[in-house]
Amino acid sequence: MKQQGMLFAFLFFISIIASSQKTKEKAPDRLKDKQDIIASLNSKYDYYKEKAIKIWNYAEVGFKEVKRTALLQQTLKENGFTIQPGVAEIPTAFVASYGSGLPVIGILAEFDALPGMSQQAAPEKKSIEGKDAGQACGHHLFGVASVAAGIEIKKLIEQKKLSGTIRVYGCPAEEGGSGKVYMVRDGLFKDVDVVIHWHPDEHNAVTLASALANKSAKFRFKGIAAHASISPEKGRSALDAVEAMDNMVNMMREHIPQETRIHHIITNGGKAPNIVPDFAEAYYYVRHPQKEVVLNIFDRVVKAAQGAAMGTETEMEYEVIGGTHELLLNKTLADAMQKNLEMVGGVSYTPAEIDFGKKLQSTFNFTYPAIESAIEVKPLKTIAGGGQGSTDVGDVSYAVPTVGLEAATWIPGTPAHSWQAVACGGTDIGIKGMMLASKAMALTALDLFTTPTLITNAKEEFKKNIGDYQYKALLGGRKPALNYRD
Ligand SMILES: [Zn+2]
Repeated sequence: MKQQGMLFAFLFFISIIASSQKTKEKAPDRLKDKQDIIASLNSKYDYYKEKAIKIWNYAEVGFKEVKRTALLQQTLKENGFTIQPGVAEIPTAFVASYGSGLPVIGILAEFDALPGMSQQAAPEKKSIEGKDAGQACGHHLFGVASVAAGIEIKKLIEQKKLSGTIRVYGCPAEEGGSGKVYMVRDGLFKDVDVVIHWHPDEHNAVTLASALANKSAKFRFKGIAAHASISPEKGRSALDAVEAMDNMVNMMREHIPQETRIHHIITNGGKAPNIVPDFAEAYYYVRHPQKEVVLNIFDRVVKAAQGAAMGTETEMEYEVIGGTHELLLNKTLADAMQKNLEMVGGVSYTPAEIDFGKKLQSTFNFTYPAIESAIEVKPLKTIAGGGQGSTDVGDVSYAVPTVGLEAATWIPGTPAHSWQAVACGGTDIGIKGMMLASKAMALTALDLFTTPTLITNAKEEFKKNIGDYQYKALLGGRKPALNYRD
C-alpha cells in the first residue's frame, strides 16, 4: 500500500515535470517562430509593396479582377501553393492550398476596386486620367497581406514546424457582388476549421462588432417611348415608375425599424428629355442588423416597385444582385488575435508621410484623431448593435468560426470609400498597415496550428451562436452576377 502510494507520487511528479517541460519547450519555440515571422515579413516589405502598388494601379471592379487575381495566384504558385482557379463559377475566384491534413486554416484575400473612385496617390483630389475605378476600400492591400500571411505559414509547414493545411481564398467582388456568398454556397469552406480575415481602416483594432445584413437588387421598368411634347399621351414613362417607386420607399422609411438603411441610385433614367423614357433602372440596397428584417423590408420594396409599375402602366422586373448575412462574432478567436496584434504593434510614419497625412486631414470637414494615433492598438472592444457596413465575410462567418482585424492603412480619420483612402492606399502609409495586418494574421494562424484547444473552444462558441439556424443565401439560387458593374 505504502509502495503503491510512493509509486503513484513518483509518477505524478514525473508527469508534472514532463508537462512543465512541454509548456516550457513550446512557449519559447512559438515566440521564436513569431519573431521569425515578423522578421521575415519585414524583409519582404519591398516584395509585397511592389505587388500591392501594381494591383492598386490595375483598379479592376468586381468580378473583372483578371490581372489582380492572376498576380496573386502567380505569387502563391511561385511560393509552392497549389491553385484551384475559377471556383464557384467565378472566373476570378480561387483557392490556394498548401500542406495536408488537419487543422485546415483559411485566410481570405479580397482584391476588387470601386467604380468612380479614381484618384492619384496625392494629398489633393485628382483622378488618374483614363481610369474610372479606384481602391477606396483598400482591397488591394487586403489581398496582398493575406497572401503574405499564407506564405509565412506555408514555410513553417514546409520546415515541418507545423502540420496541417493552409489555404488562401481569392475572393472577388466584395463590393456589392457578394463574391464569397457563392463560395460558401458551393461548400468551399466546409472542411475549414477557422477563417482569418482583416480590413483596411484608419486604426488598429480587433473589434467585436457585427455587420449589417444586406440584400440588393436592380429594378428595371419598361415603358413606351413617344415624343415628350408632341405626343406624350402615347408614351408611358419608365422614369416615372422609378420616381414613384423611390417616393413610396422614401415614405416607407417612417414605418420600418430604426436601424434599417435603404439606399439607391438611378442607374438609368432615360436618354433625352424629349423622349418619354421606355427604360429606366434603379439599384437598391436594404440593410439591417438582422437578415430576417432585411428579407421582410426587401419584400416591401418589391411591393413599392410593383405598385409603381401598376400606377404608371409600365412593366417591372427585378434582379437580385447581392445578399449577405450579418457577421457572426467569435470572442475566443478575437482574444487570440488581439494578443498578436498587440505584439505586432501599430504604425509609425516618416516626416514626409506625416506631412502627406496632415494635408489629407486638412480636407476633412469633421474632427479627426491625431496622426500619431496610428501607433496605438486599441483594446478589444465589443460594440453592441454592430457596425454600420456590410460584408460577404458575414456568410463565411456562418459557415466556419471567423476572426478579423482592422489595420491602419489610411491616415487616422479617413473614411472608407473616400478619395483620401485611395490616395493613402497608393503610398507607404497603406503598405505599412498592410504589413502589420499580414503579421497579426500569420501569428494568429500560428496559434491555431499549435493550440488545438483554441480551435475546439472557437468551434464550441460558434455552435452556440449559430444554434439551429440552417444557412440559406440571401441572394437565393442565382448564378454569380458577373456583369453587375456593367
Ligand atoms: Zn471593403
